[in-house]
Amino acid sequence: MVRDDIKIIFILGGPGAGKGTQCARLVARFPQLAHFSAGDLLRAERNNPASSVGDLINTFIRDGKIVPSHITIGLLKTAIEGSPASVFLIDGFPRNIEQGQIFEEQIKPCSLVIHLSADEAVCTDRILGRAAESGRVDDNLESLRKRFVTHREECLPVVGYYADAGKVAEVCHQPHETRLALPCREREREREQRRARR
Ligand code: AMP
Repeated sequence: MVRDDIKIIFILGGPGAGKGTQCARLVARFPQLAHFSAGDLLRAERNNPASSVGDLINTFIRDGKIVPSHITIGLLKTAIEGSPASVFLIDGFPRNIEQGQIFEEQIKPCSLVIHLSADEAVCTDRILGRAAESGRVDDNLESLRKRFVTHREECLPVVGYYADAGKVAEVCHQPHETRLALPCREREREREQRRARR
C-alpha cells in the first residue's frame, strides 16, 4: 500500500532536457527527496533476465515509444511502496495524459509538475555527446528523432493538462540562461493584471 502522507512531484521534459541531472542535483541538496526515473526503472526491468516483459520494453525503448502504462505504473508503485521517503520526484512520467490519470487514481494525485524545456538542437548535441558513454539503445540519431516526435505529440499535451490545473512550474533552459518561471496560473494572473492596468 502507498502511504497517505506522501507527496508526488512529476519532472517532465524531452529527451536530453536534463531531467536526470536536475533530479540528482535536487536530491543532493534535499536528501529527504526520493528520485525514481521511469526510464531507469524500465531499463532495470529490461535487464532482469527473469522478467517476462524485458524484450517488449526493449522494443518500445529502441523505437522511442511509450511502454504500456500498466508496466511503468506497476514498477513505480513497487518503488514508491518500498521507500521510506515522503516526497518523490518521478522523472519522465507521465508520458501521456492517460498514464497520469491512471497513476493518480491508483497511487496519488501529484502536488507539482516541473517542466524542463530546452531546444531540440541543444538536446540532440547533449544526447549524441553522451551516447558512447551511456551505451543506451536509444541514444542514436534514428531513435532520437522518434523520441522527439513522441515527445511533441504525446508528452507535451501532459504539460498543458496539468497547467490547466495550476500545477506546472516551467524551467526554461537556453544555452546561456536558466530561469525559473512562475507556475502558469500565476503567470496568467500577472498578465491579466498588466492588461487591466493598461
Ligand atoms: P528516458 O529515460 O526518460 O529518456 O526514457 C527512455 C525511454 O523509456 C522512452 O523513450 C520510452 O520508450 C521509455 N519510457 C520512459 N518513461 C516512460 C513512461 N513514463 N512511460 C512509458 N515509457 C517510458
